Amino acid sequence: MKFLVIGAGLAGITIANDLLKKGHEVIIVDSGLFKAKQDDSHVYLKKSFNLNYTNGIGIGGTTNFWDSGLTCLSDSNYYKGYSDSQKIVLNSLRDNYYIKALKLILGKNADLISQFLINPDKDILNIFYPKKIYKPKLDNNIKIFVESQVLSINNDDKCVYIEIMSDGKIFTINGDFLIFCAGGLGSPGLIKKFFPNMSSWVGHYLVDHPINFFGKIILKKNSIKNIIFKYPFGIIRSGFIIKSPVTGLRHVFFLRPTFDKKIRKSILQKKLIAINNYKNKKYIKLLFNLIDLDILSDALFTKFNISFSNRYYSVFGMIDQSENFNNSIDYEDNKKIITWDITNINYNDFIFNLRKFFIDKKITFLENNLNYQELSSAAHYSNTCKIGDDIKNGVVDLNLQLFGSSNIFICDGSVVPKIGAINTGLTIVALSLRLSDFLNNKAKYNRDE
Ligand SMILES: Cc1cc2nc3c(=O)[nH]c(=O)nc-3n(C[C@H](O)[C@H](O)[C@H](O)COP(=O)(O)OP(=O)(O)OC[C@H]3O[C@@H](n4cnc5c(N)ncnc54)[C@H](O)[C@@H]3O)c2cc1C
Repeated sequence: MKFLVIGAGLAGITIANDLLKKGHEVIIVDSGLFKAKQDDSHVYLKKSFNLNYTNGIGIGGTTNFWDSGLTCLSDSNYYKGYSDSQKIVLNSLRDNYYIKALKLILGKNADLISQFLINPDKDILNIFYPKKIYKPKLDNNIKIFVESQVLSINNDDKCVYIEIMSDGKIFTINGDFLIFCAGGLGSPGLIKKFFPNMSSWVGHYLVDHPINFFGKIILKKNSIKNIIFKYPFGIIRSGFIIKSPVTGLRHVFFLRPTFDKKIRKSILQKKLIAINNYKNKKYIKLLFNLIDLDILSDALFTKFNISFSNRYYSVFGMIDQSENFNNSIDYEDNKKIITWDITNINYNDFIFNLRKFFIDKKITFLENNLNYQELSSAAHYSNTCKIGDDIKNGVVDLNLQLFGSSNIFICDGSVVPKIGAINTGLTIVALSLRLSDFLNNKAKYNRDE
């Protein structure tokens, strides 16, 4: 069978490679370049969030900017408020696809960490950072059109035809199935454009989780355990889930090694230069001037295992958000307009419960004087083509099939349900492998008919 895929990011590449392995032909169309660049064509309404990275355009998509933190959306307590179809999808990822996704990324090492990621303690969220960063690579046998725009889409029960503009020329390509993989901000745009009467839900319920450093703590011996597990092939960080009894939201914070605030910046600099054998003196000085020291100490620890203190930790929070119809992605003159309001309620809920956590543990929390408009997006844009039980409450069904069509599917961040405080990459890989299996079975069935 022949598959057309729009978007060569994390989902597009995973699906294309897997379908090719199963003996199918795949053609990909992407609007970006072979070497992805940052897309900053976004306009944020209401709040001026601090956004350094937004959307990756081109091969590899947003993963070109990521740290490769891997985590699962797998805790069944988390399912409250999800539709029946979303629950079925998430359960099937947990039972069948997270392990496959981890194996694809980590090979045999997947078995060693899967127990921590897939069935974590109910109050702990584990994120795995592999030493070798995983970036998706497209198989050379897959035909790809880059810097190409989709001009029209037509389909009947048997075939999908898309007209594209590539290298100044217009082509019509056809396939048995079409899969949108243009990301949490890209796919809703394409669906709105080519299926204007589809569902009023397209582009709505945009979720992400605002992030930032919220302060510091000095850890007393044994007051909190299991912050970090080290492996030769990476580290697992354990985040603490703080469940709000009032809103039911499940915020997370991580403790990240930082420096002793009594030590001066210049001493830290000298120490690092000495550790580095004076090789990258200029570079290290530049880093100290450019990057926030909390972020720098964390990066030095994660990447090079250099830490300045085992008592001082910064508190890095990821705030869960209520699902809100008005949080949306829209388009005006090719500019993406994002309305993404965190709300005071969600922010205060997080801060209140964070303070309470430390008070209960008798740990002094040296809080930053942070305003909630200073939070950053985590670039985990999700839920904009919501999985629903029917067209009245969603855009795709539990097989990620566009409602009302037999051969059009969506698979990327846009179908990932409300995420709380998890990184979305591994869920997107798991969803892609699941859809590939489903389409392979469907293709076999269609052939046998
Ligand atoms: C700085 C940063 C750090 C991150 N860190 C992590 C992390 O540690 N762990 C984690 O799990 N996740 C992380 N993420 C998020 C993760 O990268 C994304 O969730 C994931 O890559 C999204 O995959 P996707 O397939 O949905 O979309 P993308 O990978 O963004 O791919 C979308 C593709 O579609 C193409 N496209 C868009 N519009 C069109 C169009 N109209 N026509 C044709 N093609 C189009 C784009 O060029 C791109 O290739 C991070 C993201 C950023 C920005």
